[in-house]
Amino acid sequence: MAVVEPIASKAGGRRRLQVKSPVDLAPLGEFDVANAEDVAKALTRARKAQSRWALTSLKDRAAMMDRLLGVLLARQDAIVARVMGETGRSRMETFFMEIFAACDTVNFHARRGPKILADQSVGLHLLRMKKAKIVYRPLGVVGIITPWNGPFILSLNPTVQAVMAGNAVIIKPSEVTPFSGQLVEDLFREAEFPEHLVQVLLGDGETGAALCEAGVDKISFTGSVATGRKVGETCGRNLIPCTLELGGKDPMLVCADADLERAAGGAVFGAFMNAGQYCSSTERVYVVDAVADRFTDLVVEKTRALKLGTEGDFDLGPFIASGQIDIVERHVADAVEKGARVLCGGKRNEQLGPYFYEPTVLTGVTHAMAIVREESFGPLLPIIRCDNEEEAVRMANDTTYGLGANVWSRDKARAERIGRRMDAGSVCINDASVTYGALEVPFGGRKSSGVGSVNGAEGLRAYCHAQPIITDRFGLKAEQIWYPYTQEKLEGMQKALKIMWGSPLKRLMK
Ligand code: NAD
Repeated sequence: MAVVEPIASKAGGRRRLQVKSPVDLAPLGEFDVANAEDVAKALTRARKAQSRWALTSLKDRAAMMDRLLGVLLARQDAIVARVMGETGRSRMETFFMEIFAACDTVNFHARRGPKILADQSVGLHLLRMKKAKIVYRPLGVVGIITPWNGPFILSLNPTVQAVMAGNAVIIKPSEVTPFSGQLVEDLFREAEFPEHLVQVLLGDGETGAALCEAGVDKISFTGSVATGRKVGETCGRNLIPCTLELGGKDPMLVCADADLERAAGGAVFGAFMNAGQYCSSTERVYVVDAVADRFTDLVVEKTRALKLGTEGDFDLGPFIASGQIDIVERHVADAVEKGARVLCGGKRNEQLGPYFYEPTVLTGVTHAMAIVREESFGPLLPIIRCDNEEEAVRMANDTTYGLGANVWSRDKARAERIGRRMDAGSVCINDASVTYGALEVPFGGRKSSGVGSVNGAEGLRAYCHAQPIITDRFGLKAEQIWYPYTQEKLEGMQKALKIMWGSPLKRLMK
């Protein structure tokens, strides 16, 4: 499937893989697949590092994140070069998806993390003789398993959050882009974080599965629905929490009063960024009949202006994982066979290399087609014409996925009303694909698109156990409900019950 192939192993008992450029198949490097024994050893090292890291203050952790930011800034060119080598993406796209986002997450969590993770005092409505606080204790060692489509940032972002929360991390990056994932460990080491606090294990599904079974305290998984289901099953059996950030089939809804110029630009960017290999890509467009022709013409015009390429200024690179091109070709062939029309693209560009596919716009698409029902994860933009917004909402929600959705209208209040009806983890209005970059808010999917979230206070605190500590305030000799149980005490409680909840006083019980 990937541009990664098995080769003869040098290390006893371990499989060895070779990674190649998706642009020209030039070899990029080789690695041994870490096995269960390697995972167990990494876990022992991680536990030792974490037991000391957990004792550091939030202020000290934030100061270490500042050092990491310095290293990131100093190493940005090398990171961009490594990621471009493994993905074939343009420099501009690599820069904003990986470096810009990386600096932002490190700085954001250094600044906001201490406040989000600080002890919280809580006033108790009933047990007023007690004092309560919630302390956010690290879970221990977090296993982070990541995909190839954002090979550096999708490993770095959860790692920053887990480490800020006091955990050690073992990252298992995708076998398709292992060396971009490896960078995360290198950068933490260069920033002088404790040894083995952040470790990367290179490997494939075998390593990922071993990590889920190894006895870590949480798995943070980003990848496909099929693998996410296996990871979720293992975590369920082992009774450890997991976050599953899975695939999507994001719909775009274009209302009659939308700014069509902006909507068409947003559709093209939303569908073709990273050559469509983005979990929150716009994968289906529902446009109301009244503006469908004009919108489609604009989309085709803008798509034709895109440059597929390998050097200099270009917009789209190749498929990063080789098997993806087969899925996209199957989706287009099935759509055409069932009556869809390809308005532009619809074919490989073999002059550029084996994995380049022209950005493709289709009309006449229906829900009977795989292109609407399955994640394409490629540069396809199927347009579906609807009688009205009601029909668009109904069709947009007719899917097993629920990652994101975007709605376009000049009437923002109306767009929001439509957005609130979308069965999606997040909604953008008059924009697309921006939620992952809004670090203040949780990012996660509904339905098959996942469980839990990253980012936001919720995501950061999900790397902790929220531990309530309740302290008695006055030190009375005994509590009312302690032994012995007597009729007199019961009657006292019955009276209290009547006063508290059977009278206007209940309003104070909040
Ligand atoms: P994948 O599921 O094939 O692989 C993801 C990771 O899981 C890889 O590191 C892989 O080696 C590992 N893995 C494979 N088998 C495993 C097993 N049995 N146990 C544990 N780990 C195992 O996904 P992919 O093809 O690398 O990534 C593309 C998918 O990721 C798309 O569906 C995309 O939508 C999704 N994705 C989701 C988000 C999100 O935030 N929701 C972000 C990016 C990508």
